[in-house]
Amino acid sequence: MSPLPSIAPGAPEGDLLQPCPDPVRFHGKPVPKILAWTGEAPPAPGPPRDTDLRSVDGVRWETWTGTPTGEPLWTVHHPARQLELMDSRNRCLVGGGPAHRTPAGLLWLLPADPAHPDPRTTATDAIRTANPPLCLRHAHQAQRHCQRLAVECLVLLVPEVEIVAVRGIVHRPGADPCWEELHLDHPDLEFMVGQQLVAELRHPVVLDALPSLTQPGSDVRLAAAGPRASGRPR
Ligand SMILES: [Zn+2]
Repeated sequence: MSPLPSIAPGAPEGDLLQPCPDPVRFHGKPVPKILAWTGEAPPAPGPPRDTDLRSVDGVRWETWTGTPTGEPLWTVHHPARQLELMDSRNRCLVGGGPAHRTPAGLLWLLPADPAHPDPRTTATDAIRTANPPLCLRHAHQAQRHCQRLAVECLVLLVPEVEIVAVRGIVHRPGADPCWEELHLDHPDLEFMVGQQLVAELRHPVVLDALPSLTQPGSDVRLAAAGPRASGRPR
């Protein structure tokens, strides 16, 4: 896929012009659109089927049944909704509306991952994630409600986004199925049942906090610590 086009300086902040819809709530807590529910069920494990959905790159996609009812599965992305939101590269994972866009890029909020280099202290040009971006209001909401994000998170503005890989179960003939991430040009994609599109967030600008909800352009601050060769708007 081609990278998301560069964002023109002064481009309108989409979520301010067109508010992102609020998601449904469960016991008062907003449930991000991307999550699966107990009323939805994955298919029986098995190799790719002719009846599976296909992603835009032709990868067969895990096709769930049911409806988003019952209780939310707080740690499980619904494969079809993850595909829809991530493939757009500019829709909020909570409400599905426009993600927060600034002249420096789109807003991402990611849990800090100890398994990967921390872009606040280590120069990095790209971060891979299966999480779509967020609108500003839902980013603030997510930080309040999500335990992982409340403990420690990365606030990023990303000028260039490209879908580069798929995560899912690979059923190679004669081998045990295994969960893998395969690049979009990998020949074994034909044996994969995809569950998540993976985006590469290029040249991320690290902020030390979310922009204010009332004056989103007034207090954008770069994180203070560490080398950041990537920390420059393009
Ligand atoms: Zn939103």
